[in-house]
Amino acid sequence: MKKKHNFSAGPCILPQEVFQESSQAILDFNNSGLSILEISHRSKDFVDVMEEARNLALELLGLEGKGYKALFLQGGASTQFLMTAYNLLQNKAAYLNTGTWSSKAIKEAKLFGEVLEVASSKDQNFNYIPKGYTVPKDVDYFHCTSNNTIFGTQMKSFPDVDVPLVCDMSSDIFSRQLDFSKFDLIYAGAQKNMGPAGTTLIIVKEDILGKVNREIPSMMDYTVHIGKSSMFNTPAVFPVYVSMLTLRWLKNLGGIDKIQEQNEKKAKLIYSEIDINPLFKGFAEKEDRSTMNATFSLVNGDLTETFNAMLAEAGINGLNGHRSVGGYRASMYNAMAKDSVSTLVEVMSDLERKA
Ligand code: PMP
Repeated sequence: MKKKHNFSAGPCILPQEVFQESSQAILDFNNSGLSILEISHRSKDFVDVMEEARNLALELLGLEGKGYKALFLQGGASTQFLMTAYNLLQNKAAYLNTGTWSSKAIKEAKLFGEVLEVASSKDQNFNYIPKGYTVPKDVDYFHCTSNNTIFGTQMKSFPDVDVPLVCDMSSDIFSRQLDFSKFDLIYAGAQKNMGPAGTTLIIVKEDILGKVNREIPSMMDYTVHIGKSSMFNTPAVFPVYVSMLTLRWLKNLGGIDKIQEQNEKKAKLIYSEIDINPLFKGFAEKEDRSTMNATFSLVNGDLTETFNAMLAEAGINGLNGHRSVGGYRASMYNAMAKDSVSTLVEVMSDLERKA
């Protein structure tokens, strides 16, 4: 079966060599005569994997030796919606509402204290990133979502705040260079730029912890997980291993600077087509367009069947938009080759020739 061009929003494409190496490790891990799936998480082989994964995450983000810890936990980014608040929200927190995931984070935080929504783009179905808002000094932290996977918008800058900055980077972590030391807590589900579903990366500056009065259950407590080097309970062994391989792949490629160049080229390709092809229209405001998820639709719905058939014929998978936006969404994560985006663009221009 020919490999498809996979534009899925997550779980999604990963580097082909990572698929190869991880499938080999299922049969025989490190020439040990054992599968990665059957070894103890306390074995030296796996403890080394966990340590390398945590170190690579900090290294790639430029955060080594700066007071941060990296954790690989379970429960997805959705568990981080409540875990961040559990650990950090004493009285009041400020949230920027840029979409479905921010709204879900807000809902969870309300269980722990007052939530101030500093701005929201809900008035236009989240097709832009609000700007010009202020974050008061008396909140425990400010929470934002760097990339809105469903709507295809991305924060291009982050406010300077006097309080801890917490960010859900699930769908654009490791895709572009930022001053990551501006952030006090970053979390990201693995299943976009890092690995398979099943593990979540948390990068936390240790000095923001331990400031709330409530008792925190062990599994919800960052300090407990830090104390046990991410091994308080059995970690998601295979997802952490595949994440480690993907982070190695990124480092060997030249790190975030290098992948950012590639990501910008891919984004330019698709957005140029959306803008010049009269059959399509983009969903997100131009200045807020995501380099990871391009959202667009057909101007004339009558062409849907033809276009879908052409996509299938070209081996394009996962292009359907999320139900709250409709249309199409091209997710172009780190592992996607520019060729796949070119193939999609060719199908779009073929449609214009045919129509
Ligand atoms: N935040 C963002 C930005 C996401 O894209 C997603 C999932 N696609 C989530 C949070 C939720 O992640 P999970 O399914 O891992 O809980």
